[in-house]
Amino acid sequence: MNKPADLKLETVPVWINGKPLAPAGRSGEVFNPATGQVTRRVPFCDASLVDKAVKAAAAALPAWRDTPPLRRARVLQNFLELLKKNQRALGTIVTQEHGKTLPDAMGSVQRGIEVVEFACGIPHLLKGEYAENAGTQVDTHSLRQPVGVCAGITPFNFPVMVPLWMFPMAIACGNTFVLKPSEKVPSASIRMAELFKEAGLPDGVFNVVHGDKEAVDALLLHEGISAVSFVGSTPIAKYIYETCAKTGKRVQALGGAKNHAVVLPDADLEFAADALTGAAYGSAGERCMAISAVVAVGAAGDPLVNLLERKAKAIKVGAGHTEGVDMGPLVTGPHREKVAGHIEAGVKEGAKLVVDGRASSVPKQGFFLGTTLFDHVTPEMSIYRDEIFGPVLVVLRASTLEEAIALVNRNPYANGTAIFTESGGAARRFGNEIQVGMVGINVPIPVPVAYFSFGGWKNSLFGDLHVHGVEAVKFYTRTKVITTRWPHQDTPAPGFNMPTLG
Ligand code: NAD
Repeated sequence: MNKPADLKLETVPVWINGKPLAPAGRSGEVFNPATGQVTRRVPFCDASLVDKAVKAAAAALPAWRDTPPLRRARVLQNFLELLKKNQRALGTIVTQEHGKTLPDAMGSVQRGIEVVEFACGIPHLLKGEYAENAGTQVDTHSLRQPVGVCAGITPFNFPVMVPLWMFPMAIACGNTFVLKPSEKVPSASIRMAELFKEAGLPDGVFNVVHGDKEAVDALLLHEGISAVSFVGSTPIAKYIYETCAKTGKRVQALGGAKNHAVVLPDADLEFAADALTGAAYGSAGERCMAISAVVAVGAAGDPLVNLLERKAKAIKVGAGHTEGVDMGPLVTGPHREKVAGHIEAGVKEGAKLVVDGRASSVPKQGFFLGTTLFDHVTPEMSIYRDEIFGPVLVVLRASTLEEAIALVNRNPYANGTAIFTESGGAARRFGNEIQVGMVGINVPIPVPVAYFSFGGWKNSLFGDLHVHGVEAVKFYTRTKVITTRWPHQDTPAPGFNMPTLG
């Protein structure tokens, strides 16, 4: 909602110990990208406020940790119902602050809701293992215990879904949590904190702080934080990973992407082009699973580019809440300029500009840019090497599937990829040889499935465990192994030497 410039802007509060708080000090602006206007202000927390949030989470930890998982699951069940009831309202906040279309925003909220559905099964997921007679009259069992206070640091492009990848799983496992959402899209996290409280979550279990590097560093360096989940760009992911390693924190840091789709000549090209158009330009290309590079193999090249050109030009650009709009604006003015700069660089480097987003007719206000398509791009060009994170699709040519696989495998990013083909053998080979974390076969974006974990390889993930699904249970718990001896009557006492098991 826009406010006339002369009205005092609302400040998005932080959420500490179950209450909103509007701190004084540094702050930033929150924009509606469809109008270009500042709609809210967001406080930038300093170390003392972050400390307050961590202390609230630490104080809530003993009681929450000891709450039986079934009771924790009941709170999550209530939260799930409230999220479903508020799905449209949350989607609307996403559209207001991020700019993506409302149906797209609602879809992303749905993906997050599915993680909470999965988290409701936590009593079963936390069960350990038991071995009777690991030694004579000695039994061994393992159990999973929470790690402590966890922190989550999230990007701008999924203001509801990415936080929901993290905190419901961490909290279901018995941890308490401090979330630092992107300062560009801060409001949805506060709404989720209110809903979680309404669901019956005790105060202090979930806290939200806002800010930039200062708040993030305060979390990374805080002795009270045991584990950090991060999703964002590769340079920051690497920094988070290295800093947490130095301070001995458990860490998973998901980074950026350059996702390739390989299209073989035997593919249904009309179907592939439709799928790629959605995957490249949906959410204005600001998705970590966006397809940003197409590798057209052999005879697929020219007809595919013709189809992509037609479909890219047909995309309707406008404000995300307007019915019938396919693509909204970019998130901020500087980001729009950065993406436009990449297009300029592509032209200078000699790629063939098939559709120029800078020239398309888009609303004058706001941070809009039309769709761009480049052909005959080579791996040396910056439009191929850099993650543009905007509505720019580049097409490279390869002669064979083998060449295409080698090209994808040389790229340092490895979040997602896809192949379009009618050949089961080619698809199988691709799935087997490609060095990427998530693979689509005739599916442009392998969207997150809550009960599988989500994460890329190489520069797209620093750490060992992916987010949500069973890997989240591993990340947010520590395993303990307990060995017990209850001797039967008349059993002699063990001797001095180490007994042989079995
Ligand atoms: P970003 O890295 O700029 O910011 C992510 C978070 O880090 C934000 O909360 C931000 O406040 C914080 N941050 C920014 N600069 C920092 C610094 N110097 N020190 C400490 N913290 C800092 O990312 P973004 O622009 O918000 O999001 C887009 C990026 O996220 C893209 O690269 C995209 O590919 C990636 N992403 C990846 C996934 C995935 O699953 N791998 C999912 C979504 C987004």
